[in-house]
Amino acid sequence: MKRSAAKLEYPRNQDVNNAYTIDTISFFKMVRSWGATMVGAGDVREGLAMEFSHLPAAISLAIAHPPLRDSIIRKDSVSAYTNQFPAIDASLEKIQKRIASYLRSMGWKAFVIPPDTDKQDPSFAARLFPLFPHKTGATCSGLGWVGKNGLLITREYGARLSWGTVLTDAPLEVSARPYFKGECNSCNRCVRVCPAGAIKGREWRRDNSGEQLLDIEKCSQQLKRHKTVIGKAICAHCVTACPVGNREDANYFMEGGD
Ligand code: SF4
Ligand code: SF4
Repeated sequence: MKRSAAKLEYPRNQDVNNAYTIDTISFFKMVRSWGATMVGAGDVREGLAMEFSHLPAAISLAIAHPPLRDSIIRKDSVSAYTNQFPAIDASLEKIQKRIASYLRSMGWKAFVIPPDTDKQDPSFAARLFPLFPHKTGATCSGLGWVGKNGLLITREYGARLSWGTVLTDAPLEVSARPYFKGECNSCNRCVRVCPAGAIKGREWRRDNSGEQLLDIEKCSQQLKRHKTVIGKAICAHCVTACPVGNREDANYFMEGGD
C-alpha cells in the first residue's frame, strides 16, 4: 500500500522562518546524491522534549549496510552479525553536516543527532541526543516501523541500515504517512532465533512506547557471552533472521542456536 505524503503544517503562531521556501523533493534528491540510501521528513511535535520545541520537523536518513554474507563472524560455537559499521556512521555524519549547513545557509535552524549517540562526546549538545531517538524520526517520516526486535524495520532493507536525524524548523513536506504501530503481524522469526530468549514478541505501538519489547538484561548477558568467545559484544541474530527486505533470503543462524 502506498504511504502518501502530506504537507507539514505549522500552527500560525509558530515561530518558523518562512523567509525562504524549500522544495522537499529536490532537497531529498540532493541528499540522496550525497550518499543517503533513504531520507524522509516527519512532523515530530507530539511528545517533543522542551529542549527541541523550536524544531518541529525531523529529517530521518539512513545508509544501508553491506550484504549479510560479508558481515557474519563465526568462532567455536558462537556466530554473530557485525551490525556496527563505523565507516557508514562517519559517512552519515558527513551528510548530516551538509544538510545542516545547507539549511542554516537558507536561514533555518538545524540540530544534528549522529548515528551513534552512545559514543563518548563531551560536548553540551551530546547531552541532548538521548532526548530524541532516531526511531521517532524514522517512524514519523513513514520510512519504517519498530519491529518486535526493537529495531527500525524498513520494507526495503529490514533492520540493516544505520540511522541519523537532523531536527529543523524548515517547512518541509512530510514524506509519507507515519507508522503508529508495528507491521510485523504474525512473523516471529526474531523471537524464535534469539539465543537469549530476550525478545518478548510484542508488536510496537507508538501510544505505548514505554512498553519494553526486549528484556535488555538478557540481551546484554548474551552480548557479554559472545565477547568472551569472539572478542566483540555483538550478536544481531534478530537482524539476520528478519525476512523483511531480505533479498538474500537467507537465515544465517540456526533458530534457537548460539
Ligand atoms: S542481539 Fe542477540 S540476544 Fe539481543 S535481542 Fe538480538 S538476537 Fe537476542
Ligand atoms: S523477524 Fe519478523 S517479527 Fe522480527 S522484526 Fe522482522 S518482521 Fe518483525
